[in-house]
Amino acid sequence: MALIGPANRRSEAKAEKTAAVIGAGISGLVAAYRLRQKLGTEADIVLVDPDLIGGQLRTVELGGGPFDVGAEAFVRRRPEMVQLLEELGLSDLMVLPAGLRPIVWAGGAAHSLPAGSLMGLPTSGESIRGFVSDEAVEWVNSEPTHPFTWESGSDCSVAELVGDRFGAEVVERCVDPLLGGVYAGTSETAGVRAALPTLAAALDAGAPNLTAAVVTAMGAPQSGPVFSGIEGGYQRLVEELIRQTEPRIASVAAQGIVRYGSQWTVTNVGTFDIVVVAVRPAIASALLDREVPAAASALSRIPAASAVVVALALQDSVLPDLSGVLVASGESLRAKAFTFSDRKWPHLRERPNPVIRVSFGKFGDESILDETDENLVKYALEDLRTVTGIETTAADYVVQRWVSALPQYLPGHLDVVAEIEEAIYAQPGLAIAGSYLNGVGVPACVGTATKAVNRLLG
Ligand SMILES: Cc1cc2nc3c(=O)[nH]c(=O)nc-3n(C[C@H](O)[C@H](O)[C@H](O)COP(=O)(O)OP(=O)(O)OC[C@H]3O[C@@H](n4cnc5c(N)ncnc54)[C@H](O)[C@@H]3O)c2cc1C
Repeated sequence: MALIGPANRRSEAKAEKTAAVIGAGISGLVAAYRLRQKLGTEADIVLVDPDLIGGQLRTVELGGGPFDVGAEAFVRRRPEMVQLLEELGLSDLMVLPAGLRPIVWAGGAAHSLPAGSLMGLPTSGESIRGFVSDEAVEWVNSEPTHPFTWESGSDCSVAELVGDRFGAEVVERCVDPLLGGVYAGTSETAGVRAALPTLAAALDAGAPNLTAAVVTAMGAPQSGPVFSGIEGGYQRLVEELIRQTEPRIASVAAQGIVRYGSQWTVTNVGTFDIVVVAVRPAIASALLDREVPAAASALSRIPAASAVVVALALQDSVLPDLSGVLVASGESLRAKAFTFSDRKWPHLRERPNPVIRVSFGKFGDESILDETDENLVKYALEDLRTVTGIETTAADYVVQRWVSALPQYLPGHLDVVAEIEEAIYAQPGLAIAGSYLNGVGVPACVGTATKAVNRLLG
């Protein structure tokens, strides 16, 4: 095993504390950075990861410049990423989107995305008129007049709640394209409480019907852009976190965690005072099976979806003035979303060829992973032609497969998370972080990693 990093300084004098972070995606990187802040320069911090540092933050070369093929943006209305970039001295890298909107491909045609919804849930039938049938509009308009019960603290799938109150068409056309973009799942697999926490809170607080709950959950309209990106790609953040943390890096897969007195042995790597587990749930479950079986069992109940991103630099084409296309459930396209990156992000417009991302993959269907790169590029171009009429070829491409990368927030997810955390934090020196705890977005991962270290070290 190669342990790379500035170990000499630390091995000469005995390090005050030793810590291993298993998994070097954003969750693990931020956990390591926070450990460095809390433990000081003398602590020996080892980042364990067999793959490229950054996990689902991956920046590649495409069409003559850096391009993100995992996460490409973050929600700037949440504080965690904005604060982290500020702390690291990277605020200047934050870039704003051009403010274009996506369209939705539904019923074999392009539609404008209705404005003012909560993850696709409308505030009235009128707000989605023209996008769904007149029957669906009437259904939503009359929703407040139908008897409604919600047991405070209960949970169900988004499809169950929205299908029952607004009808299946609203589920497929309005909600699924947005939920699919975030979780690679559908409203059938997303639990209300985890996927729409503000809606669950409004229902718990006694909203008389779903329409009223949506209005309350949306709150006052917020101004300013929702998202930011990073100039130069997420790699800039990954590199800066490594530079400021100065961890040693063990380029191996951790095989297990064993308690050894008051310390923890990470098989293959070493023995540590502190271990933070920042890998996906199935792997965390296998690692913790021996010492924390209650956490391992709960972790094994969180399934994940795989996704594929086909990044393309297009030959001689002009993209429409849209940020991209979301695809409703049940369409005959293979792609589930298109991001017209050079329209969406002004800083990508200088490339010689327009660059786009085409995303594939839905929870429960792994078949897309078996397709060859050539086929995936072909499907991406065919589907692009269907939704835009643009007939083009690829000047350059990168195909990135993300296997079991996106945890599913099923109904009851928050109870599973509570079980995991209770079992883990009963163990001194052990913590967990990851996108399955408090949201899949990068800011949520930054938040859980910070929380994990605070729980360990106060
Ligand atoms: C296609 C796609 C697009 C996305 N777009 C966005 C977006 O625009 N905005 C946003 O906010 N979020 C987005 N996300 C979600 C976000 O990128 C992820 O939730 C987040 O990056 C996950 O970080 P993580 O550190 O928890 O996990 P990961 O990034 O998966 O890191 C886990 C690490 O663990 C390592 N590992 C695995 N097994 C072992 C082992 N045995 N020992 C040691 N290490 C191991 C892996 O190699 C990996 O590096 C997107 C995700 C995907 C897949």
